Amino acid sequence: MATTLVPGLAERRPRSEEVERRLKDTYGTMAWRCHGEPLSELVGTVLSQHTSDINTARAYSSLRSWLPTWEEVRSAPTARVEEAIHCGGLARTKARRIQDILDAVLQRQGVLSLGGLKSMGHEPARTFLLRLPGVGPKTAACVLLFSLGLPALPVDTHVHRVALRLGLIPDGTTAGAAHPRLEAQLGGDRDRVYAFHMNAIAHGRAICRARVPSCPRCPLQECCDYFIRSGRG
Ligand code: SF4
Repeated sequence: MATTLVPGLAERRPRSEEVERRLKDTYGTMAWRCHGEPLSELVGTVLSQHTSDINTARAYSSLRSWLPTWEEVRSAPTARVEEAIHCGGLARTKARRIQDILDAVLQRQGVLSLGGLKSMGHEPARTFLLRLPGVGPKTAACVLLFSLGLPALPVDTHVHRVALRLGLIPDGTTAGAAHPRLEAQLGGDRDRVYAFHMNAIAHGRAICRARVPSCPRCPLQECCDYFIRSGRG
């Protein structure tokens, strides 16, 4: 899909590049910034599943205040971790998952730290993360991108829906399978990956919403398979 050209444009760019350009024109150029050390990012990403950013921040802050070290989180009774993160929702599942991850990190690294990930390189670091309990492609990509500054694209529900409708990935592509396909279109460039991730989420929230996309006011119409197929293009 990377080489698909945008029909009807005088300057014919690959579709993915035209999408990036229009998203930046609409939502701005997001500069990458480090979210923090990788183990904190990983735990924070687990806490963010199926809840809002506000509840994620509350749950993370509560966890660090109740149990300030990762060793305390790992070795505490699970019920105590569950209580500490209660405000983030799905506390029982997340508490167990966080402790399983910490157990696995300690077992494999000998310390409760993922500080050695960056020196592994991109794909070995991704493989390491994917072998941790309950860690899937999106969670691994969050750690790689937000903490380590590697060009991994987290494909959340907004990124997935927008990419499918635009035709950047074939119909029926799962979110998991979308990761390598979209990353390949973004040229292994951290800043392009970060900007696309942030802007696709903004677009999915503001215009290309799940139930009814606001196509008539969308700046991506000419790049969009969904729009063209619907007969409006
Ligand atoms: S034209 Fe419609 S379906 Fe396509 S990206 Fe824009 S809002 Fe989404």
